[in-house]
Amino acid sequence: MNYRHAFHAGNFADVLKHAVLALVIEHLKRKPAAFRFIDTHAGRGHYRLDAPEAERTREWRAGIGRLIGPGATALPQVISPLLAPYLGEVRRHSSGGALVSYPGSPVLALGLMRPGDALIANELHPEDGRVLKAALSHDVRAKVLGIDAWQALKALLPPKERRGLVLVDPPFEDAGDLERLATGLSAAVRRFATGIYILWFPIKDGAVVDRLRRSLSPAVAGNLIVAELRVSALASAEKLAGCGLAIVNPPFMLADQLNLLLPFLAEWLSQGPGASGTLHRH
Ligand code: SAM
Repeated sequence: MNYRHAFHAGNFADVLKHAVLALVIEHLKRKPAAFRFIDTHAGRGHYRLDAPEAERTREWRAGIGRLIGPGATALPQVISPLLAPYLGEVRRHSSGGALVSYPGSPVLALGLMRPGDALIANELHPEDGRVLKAALSHDVRAKVLGIDAWQALKALLPPKERRGLVLVDPPFEDAGDLERLATGLSAAVRRFATGIYILWFPIKDGAVVDRLRRSLSPAVAGNLIVAELRVSALASAEKLAGCGLAIVNPPFMLADQLNLLLPFLAEWLSQGPGASGTLHRH
């Protein structure tokens, strides 16, 4: 386990993932019944943007740094409400308008969730798991686990509330991750068919989305949308030029929201020619 999210927190990929996570949580809150959010690869919960890891890559400057902070300009009127839940949470972690700390997925979600909702945050890395546990220990809604994410998916579904959202956000350290993701997701959907699932994946070469689509079982076909954000043309397998979210059972209206948001993010977060934001329905 070499991947450490501290090097990448707040980058363009986090912006897409966390903006969509916030929109889905807002959707779940429209009904009074409680829901459960299961974060299978939760990370450490919060990240200092002045830490050596973040300083080394400075990825956040081309991500959240373009939306909040000294260099950021006002958002177009049509986009502002779509990013409001996400940016509101990020701002709560900034000090006097300066971005010093960035919330990871479990902390961001918990900030938006209601008193009766529940969070299970799972993180396998022992050190990040310890930091996460400390960050969430004050909140009775949150439970932290440190097991393998694919086991967690099996053990935790279906949730007792029968309403829920699952975020699967693996580091993609080895070549088998994409297939594991597709197999794990298909099995999860069989256990909890009505759940909303958000899966993050990197786009380093153009074939990745086709492979993901082919590997997903027919269980999810028809209830799947895929959001793709490319911040530059795909140049090399090393550099992350884009990422995607496969969303199973997307809430009503999310596709319409993404049709507005994706082209905006592609333009705002562009790192060169070839940036694009597109939504595919399957
Ligand atoms: N979801 C977090 C967020 O948005 O703030 C970021 C998560 S980061 C991309 C992926 C995390 O998965 C890392 O913290 C890594 O330690 C953890 N991880 C890697 N393999 C895992 C596994 N098999 N089970 C659970 N966690 C794992």
